[in-house]
Amino acid sequence: MTRFADSEIARVKDGPISDAIGRYVDWDRAKSVPSKGDFWACCPFHGEKTPSFHCDDGKGIYKCFGCGATGDHIRFVQEYLGKSFAEAVEYLGGSPDAQTDPETEARLAAERERKRREQDAAAERYREDERRKAYAIWREGRPLPGTEAEAYLAARRLAPVMDGLRLRYVPSQPYWHQKKVSGEKKPKPYVLYSGPALLSPMTRPDGTFAGVHITWFDPDRPGKKLALGDPETGEILPAKKIRGSKRQAAERLIMPAAFDRLVIGEGRETVLSAARAEKAKRPDRFVRTAFWASIDLQHMGGNATETVAHPTLKTKLGRPARVPGPVPDMSDEAAIPLPEFVREVVTLGDGDSDRFTAEQVHARAAARWAMTGRTIVAAWAPEGKDFNDLAMEEA
Ligand SMILES: [Zn+2]
Repeated sequence: MTRFADSEIARVKDGPISDAIGRYVDWDRAKSVPSKGDFWACCPFHGEKTPSFHCDDGKGIYKCFGCGATGDHIRFVQEYLGKSFAEAVEYLGGSPDAQTDPETEARLAAERERKRREQDAAAERYREDERRKAYAIWREGRPLPGTEAEAYLAARRLAPVMDGLRLRYVPSQPYWHQKKVSGEKKPKPYVLYSGPALLSPMTRPDGTFAGVHITWFDPDRPGKKLALGDPETGEILPAKKIRGSKRQAAERLIMPAAFDRLVIGEGRETVLSAARAEKAKRPDRFVRTAFWASIDLQHMGGNATETVAHPTLKTKLGRPARVPGPVPDMSDEAAIPLPEFVREVVTLGDGDSDRFTAEQVHARAAARWAMTGRTIVAAWAPEGKDFNDLAMEEA
């Protein structure tokens, strides 16, 4: 085995890692900040359409947030060109014998392309399988009136249930969780709990089914979501889960046959509260309005071109936390598209989400959906409250 002096290894790692890697990937110009040595690309190790492969010249490392590939100059050459450590050092050091001949490079490129296509196909099969499972859950759902789901909504001042509301109820939905098994690498999935849940369908712009959003509620405490503890850590687990894909999907809760106005918010109950208030106070406007939930906060704005420093939140190391910024990445094909005929948009902001983070999302949504002749306004609940709290106070 060839031994290298530390100085030789240091020398091959001396240049910017983005130069070494940039020969093999196309940096994403919108996301990269070359002046800071900050580069993003679609990952060369797994198939993807939006860049999650990051390269940091300052630290001299790359890292993929999609597949976890990570390393330095040498590691990249080893992994990407299929070389040993010694060969990679010689390759980077410019030793003429170590350069790969065009034939080998072409063969390796073809092999990588084949692997990427295989991974893409496997991912697509997985997504379709998940979608079918999600649809099977939704199909089991039944109408809300007369059920404990209606009682849950009533306790939150969200009943009687509106006509045409796209929500269903299941009496016993399994809650899957994972536990570590000694001697095994992968945690083992098991059913931690089964109980009543609300279901709402996530649909794509063409109306096709994309997934289901499941919310478990506590049958013994009307109006309360399920507070299920993790048996291992004791921490409270999320009462909501989504199955299926968020890609271009939203929970289209109320869809009039014809509408030119859209009210959209992060959470289902926020949106329902707004719908009820509007139906009572402005029925003329209510009838021409669709009410959607965006599944989660960030999905409302889609991807950002860059992150921004949070004015008060800090990381564990005391640096400002970074959150997705106000400028939408218009190449994000997974973001929620709006039909062109929508002339008015109201984005609902909960006072109980972090305000700065939410403002960036609303700014992105407004910029993404901007169109001649369309107005977009943000409506904010008072600090510390959401629209559901307001409905409960007004009731
Ligand atoms: Zn990757």
